[in-house]
Amino acid sequence: MTIKAIGYAASGKHAKLKPMQLERQDPLPNEVQIAVLYCGVCHSDIHQCENDWGNTVYPCMPGHEVVGRVVNKGSLVTKHAIGDLVGVGCMIDSCHECAPCLAGDEQYCEGPNSWLATYNGPMKQTKTGENMYGRDNTFGGYSDQLVVREDFVLKIPAALPIEAAAPILCAGVTTYSPMKHWGVKAGSKVGVVGFGGLGDMSVKIARAMGAQVTVFTRDKDKVAEAHRLGAKSVVEGDDKAYAALEGHFDFIISTVPEKHEVDPFIPLLRHDGVFVAVGALAPMPGWNHMNVIMGRKTIAGSLIGSITETQEVLDFCAEHRIAPDIQLIPIQEINEAYKYVKSGDVRFRYVIDAASLAE
Ligand code: NDP
Ligand code: ZN
Repeated sequence: MTIKAIGYAASGKHAKLKPMQLERQDPLPNEVQIAVLYCGVCHSDIHQCENDWGNTVYPCMPGHEVVGRVVNKGSLVTKHAIGDLVGVGCMIDSCHECAPCLAGDEQYCEGPNSWLATYNGPMKQTKTGENMYGRDNTFGGYSDQLVVREDFVLKIPAALPIEAAAPILCAGVTTYSPMKHWGVKAGSKVGVVGFGGLGDMSVKIARAMGAQVTVFTRDKDKVAEAHRLGAKSVVEGDDKAYAALEGHFDFIISTVPEKHEVDPFIPLLRHDGVFVAVGALAPMPGWNHMNVIMGRKTIAGSLIGSITETQEVLDFCAEHRIAPDIQLIPIQEINEAYKYVKSGDVRFRYVIDAASLAE
C-alpha cells in the first residue's frame, strides 16, 4: 500500500517550485507516518534546488525543518504514539555501524552512502551503484506527509510555539552543535557573522548559554534587531569597530552562504579561539596562517548536528523560552520567499504552513 501525498518540487536548476503528486510507502514496522503541519525554509533548500553543490537529483522537493503529528505507525514503534507532535530534521537514516554512528555523530556517517538526507538523499552514490537505503531520491517536508524511521523523529516539547519549532530542527542544531563542541559557556564572547535564519538562532542560543554576543551584519537595518536580542553589533567593513575587537572572541560562527574572507576575523579571536564557518559552499579564500599560528587559533567547519543534539536543542530552546523569529507563508509563495532569502530580507525564517498544500 502507498500513501498519496502532495508537495512542491523544482524540476531543474532554474525551475520554479511547482506542485507535485507523490506516493510514499506505508510505514515499515520501525517507521512513523507524519502529517506535516509546518516546514521551515532553509537557505540550503535554495542551494539544493539551484544545484549549488553539484549533487542535486531532480525533481528536488526540499524541506528539512519539519513539524507534524504522527498519524500512523509501524508495529515495532515504541518512541512515538499516534497524535504526538514530532519533528524531522536534515537526516532520516544512517549506517548505524561506522565509528561516527557508533559515537552518536550520525551526521558524519562514513557508511557507503553516508547518511540519508531528508531530501535529495542518499548523500553519496557509491561507485558500484549499490544503495544501502534502497532509495534513489528522497522528498522532504515541502509536502503534506512524511514517513520516517522512529529513531530519526524528534519530540517537540509542549512549551515551544509549534510553527516556530520547525527551524530549530536545522538552524537551531547547526548552531547549537558547534557551540557545544567548542565549549561556549556563560561569559564566553561569541561573534555571529551573517544575521539570517542561522544567525538569529546563533544569537539566541549563545545568549541563553550566558555568552556575550556580537553580530556582524552587512545590513544597518538589522542593528536594532541584534540589540533587541541583547547582542552588540558591527556593520561589516567598519575597520574601527574591528580594531576595537582585536583578541576579543572565544568563538566566531560564520553563517554567510557564500565564500568570504576569513582574514578579517582571525585577529579578533583570542588565544585558542575558534572560527567556525557553517555556511560557506564555495572554496574559501586563503588566510594569513601566521595569524592562526600566533595564538593557536582554530579555523573549522561543522555539519548540522546529531539526533541526540537535535533533541537537546529542542529541549534547550523550550527550557530557555527561545524560538526563531518566523514569517508564516502559504506554499504558493515559496518562489517569492526564495528571492527574499537570497537578498537577506527575511526576518528571520520563512515557515511554510502545510495547510496551504490542500488549497
Ligand atoms: P540566510 O540567507 O537566512 O542567512 C544568511 C545571512 O548571511 C544573510 O541574512 C546575510 O546576513 C548574510 N549574507 C548573505 N549573503 C551574503 C554575502 N554574499 N556576503 C556576506 N554576507 C551575506 O541563510 P541560512 O541562515 O538559512 O543559512 C546560512 C548558510 O548556512 C547557508 O549557506 C546554508 O546552506 C548553510 N547551512 C549549513 C549547514 C551546515 O550543516 N553546515 C546547515 C544549515 C545551513 P546580513 O544581512 O546580516 O549580512
Ligand atoms: Zn537547513
